[in-house]
Amino acid sequence: MTSMLPWPKEYLAGAGWINTRRLLDRLTDAARRGALPGTILLLGEGGMGREAVAVELAAALVCRSAATRPCPCQTCERVRRAVHPDVTIVDVLPGKSEISIAQARDVATTVALLPFESARRVIVLTSAETPPLSAEAASALLKTLEEPPAHVTLVLLAANPARVLPTIVSRSVALRVPGPQPDELARLAAEVNEISLEQARMLLEGGLDVVSGGTEAADRRQVVNQLIRQMLTGDVLAVLRLGALSRQAPDAAAMALGELLDIAREGAHEHAEAALDAATQLIHAVRRHAILRTELEGTLVGALAPLLTGCQRAR
Ligand SMILES: [Zn+2]
Repeated sequence: MTSMLPWPKEYLAGAGWINTRRLLDRLTDAARRGALPGTILLLGEGGMGREAVAVELAAALVCRSAATRPCPCQTCERVRRAVHPDVTIVDVLPGKSEISIAQARDVATTVALLPFESARRVIVLTSAETPPLSAEAASALLKTLEEPPAHVTLVLLAANPARVLPTIVSRSVALRVPGPQPDELARLAAEVNEISLEQARMLLEGGLDVVSGGTEAADRRQVVNQLIRQMLTGDVLAVLRLGALSRQAPDAAAMALGELLDIAREGAHEHAEAALDAATQLIHAVRRHAILRTELEGTLVGALAPLLTGCQRAR
């Protein structure tokens, strides 16, 4: 059976996780009561539940069966393969680097049409972050986001709200998608890597790769250290810069971890505790990235973003 989903199929595993299930139940319940917001912003790391929530919510909204969820009907199955005419998934097109203004205009046209088969139409935007959502595309979407027609639900995905334009955030209801519990994560890692559950647990508890040497790496380490120090002063741009750096140099993640641990070791440092928390987050996030092949940039940004709010709270 063909699938048109823009993600690997294991991104839908989250539909079975206990905490994502609870979020889905709350959302479908709100839909039943007519209380579902028109535009929902799902926050979370790629592959860690947000795609599963988006797809299962879309299925629940277009499904006409009375079966308990997750529903096995043909309609829901078509949504899960992204071949249902009333559910549109908007992603960066092959060979492009951003979601274009033309795609945003298509969304505006699509929402104006009545659904073909169901009572509702659902649009899922795979990234509400800029980039890949260009600023022009975002502004072309604003009117739709503000007042979607009554038959439309828009679901936007993002790792970090700091990378979503404020005009979009203000027009959506943001929900943080809970990730998997350790056992659920181990089961997923076992499946993705075709290894035993026991091996997957060991892999998830194992150490990270040591950073390679060389002068280029030493320069990079300096840049990373500086970015981390900037993050501790609440500098949002530093998080984004580190994310961008990781695209060319994946070892930036391990370097960031080293610097955070150094700060945590300086017990007297005012941000020692926040640095330790961030280091812990980062270890888990980078392991998930390595094992589940999630996208590194979003993983890094998602793990380090709480460092910023942590510092602001501490001040
Ligand atoms: Zn169904």
